[in-house]
Amino acid sequence: MKNQVSRYVDDFMAGVIARNPAEPEFYQAVHEVVESLAPFIIENPVLMKNKILERMAEPERVIMFRVPWLDDRGEVQINRGFRVQMNSAIGPYKGGIRFHASVNLGILKFLAFEQVLKNSLTSLPMGGGKGGSDFNPKGKSDNEVMKFCQSFMTELQRHIGPNTDVPAGDIGVGGREVAYMYGQYKRLRNEFTGTLTGKGLDFGGSPLRPEATGYGTVYFAKEMLQTRNESFKGKTVAVSGSGNVAQYAVEKVLEMGGKVVTLSDSNGSIYDPEGITKEKLEYVMVLKNAIRGRIKEYAEKYPSAEFWENERPWKAKCDVALPCATQNELNGDDALKLVENGCICVAEGANMPSTPEAVKVFLERKILFGPGKAANAGGVAVSGLEMSQNSMRLQWTAQEVDEKLQSIMKNIHDACVKNGKSADGFVNYVNGANISGFTKVANAMLAQGL
Ligand code: GLU
Repeated sequence: MKNQVSRYVDDFMAGVIARNPAEPEFYQAVHEVVESLAPFIIENPVLMKNKILERMAEPERVIMFRVPWLDDRGEVQINRGFRVQMNSAIGPYKGGIRFHASVNLGILKFLAFEQVLKNSLTSLPMGGGKGGSDFNPKGKSDNEVMKFCQSFMTELQRHIGPNTDVPAGDIGVGGREVAYMYGQYKRLRNEFTGTLTGKGLDFGGSPLRPEATGYGTVYFAKEMLQTRNESFKGKTVAVSGSGNVAQYAVEKVLEMGGKVVTLSDSNGSIYDPEGITKEKLEYVMVLKNAIRGRIKEYAEKYPSAEFWENERPWKAKCDVALPCATQNELNGDDALKLVENGCICVAEGANMPSTPEAVKVFLERKILFGPGKAANAGGVAVSGLEMSQNSMRLQWTAQEVDEKLQSIMKNIHDACVKNGKSADGFVNYVNGANISGFTKVANAMLAQGL
């Protein structure tokens, strides 16, 4: 069986690599899933025969387009836009839009592939997709961001719709960008439907959507800790990133009685051994969201903090780590450092922040490891709730949404335990998430035929 499994994985990956040249992040995401699912698939001839996983690794549709716009000096700029419509077996394509200089087709395919399984895990009827552009919003004026968003949506709007494809935010796309894109969508399509989630509260957005990814990650970690009779109370927590996900993860950890000692951005990390209080967090929110400054300024304002230039937070001693920045931000050495310093739980607020070597360390050392597609599913789950509210033409309260979010995160956790528990009682949440997410999509694809 072992040989058969590794042969299946090797053949599968050889096919993926041959068909998708130079897309390392996509290989990484697919490889992890194929490794998890291989034993399960080999035992299910129907899945093998129908090539369900092979089909899932091929996007249903990829759209690539030119995004021309005029900068503030009147110069023509050209970026590239993408939408990967990965899988619509269980619902309309759903997933964020990323604006970052690093964006390319391979990165969006990895994100879209993860999104399919993540969205399935939420138990809401959403297929998976992802989009974005190599546009770098850093240092751009508000006017330039608006111009870019309008041009991006002028092309994208013909490919999306409330029952077709519903984008949202991701790195570089927050409330401001979603609003500009929604405004343009509405002008061109003359309809006020829920296409795009993460909208402002005054025009169809859901309460708690901005908080949902960070809160959900902490709810998921809380469930994991509970399996070992632990909680956030009194725990030291290392968080990376300082954007939307990180900010609300910190807020929820504080609420649950934990102490957060780190944050980061692409220039480095801050380490505050006295802890990031509510007041300091408020400062971070203004700094990052309104002024769009750098996290380094935190260490200039608060003398209790150090700035670690060009370093990630993972050398900080902590009980729980929440990587909330970006893909591959935590490598095998970081993972060893974390475990050796006593870290017992890692929950991924970002998508694929841990490298395969890091994941291997966490699983071998049998600490609690919650992969992004499970741990950060709260964001897209509340996006799904936003879609429901838009269809019903009503708005729930923050409390109603929070209750639903908590119960969704608990259900995802329980599904991971059910499908990821090994004979010795250790829960491999990677296998659990992959098997649970895959099953529903696979059944739908089988039922719908080729
Ligand atoms: N970008 C988020 C994610 O990675 C949210 C997507 C959405 O709300 O559609 O799941």
